[in-house]
Amino acid sequence: MSIKIDHLTHIYNEGTPFQKVALEDINMSIEKGEFVGIIGHTGSGKSTLIQMFNGLLKPTKGEVYVNQQNIHGEKINKKEMRQRVGLVFQYPEYQLFEMTVKDDVAFGPKNMGLTKEEIDKQVKFGLDAVGLDESYYEKSPFELSGGQKRRVAIAGVLAMNPEILILDEPTAGLDPKGRNELFEQLKKMHQELGLTIVLISHSMEDVAKYVEKLFVLYKGRIAYTGSPRE
Ligand code: ATP
Ligand code: MG
Repeated sequence: MSIKIDHLTHIYNEGTPFQKVALEDINMSIEKGEFVGIIGHTGSGKSTLIQMFNGLLKPTKGEVYVNQQNIHGEKINKKEMRQRVGLVFQYPEYQLFEMTVKDDVAFGPKNMGLTKEEIDKQVKFGLDAVGLDESYYEKSPFELSGGQKRRVAIAGVLAMNPEILILDEPTAGLDPKGRNELFEQLKKMHQELGLTIVLISHSMEDVAKYVEKLFVLYKGRIAYTGSPRE
């Protein structure tokens, strides 16, 4: 799945005293199968930008294309778009429900009209991918650590078989070991499934080792696009 952002500007609370230009004239493209990083200081617009990728936010100006299709066009099925463009939020604990880990991860697949067997298979796929075994299935997500909650949230998005996986600060709250494990798991999914991955981070260190292409956001503008080495 490819994403193209064309001259996108986003202004929160436009025309009020609280007006804030969060993104300004952003142009970028992400090709199918790429492993991409977006880094930038706090407030640089990272979380705002990725909510454009699946149509959660509509830009003030500019266009967003997913597989060459304008996602604010008439023919777009929004529900399907949210399934194909998988977004793990910066604070994924808000994406979890008070049920078991297994039911939580099954929530998305259940909405896709799959059979019970298919749902179970997707749940296992998602939880395996983030390294949570069956001993977690009947737990409540609220009994888990911050890092484990994050894994459940990622599993829930993966269980919907997205074509692109976008993770907003996925390593926040993980120790170095957990961080490495998660990155290795993502790398494996990228290599074995050809999954397109977009990783958002504060830290260069985190992403430089893994991504093939890097975008640096600075005060709502793209300050750099290219290889992380440069
Ligand atoms: P962080 O690294 O802290 O997560 P970020 O790069 O994700 O930051 P955004 O959350 O995209 O940054 O915010 C960009 C700018 O837009 C900030 O100045 C922020 O205050 C502002 N902003 C974000 N969300 C809203 C909102 N819902 N209403 C008004 N302003 C907002
Ligand atoms: Mg953010």
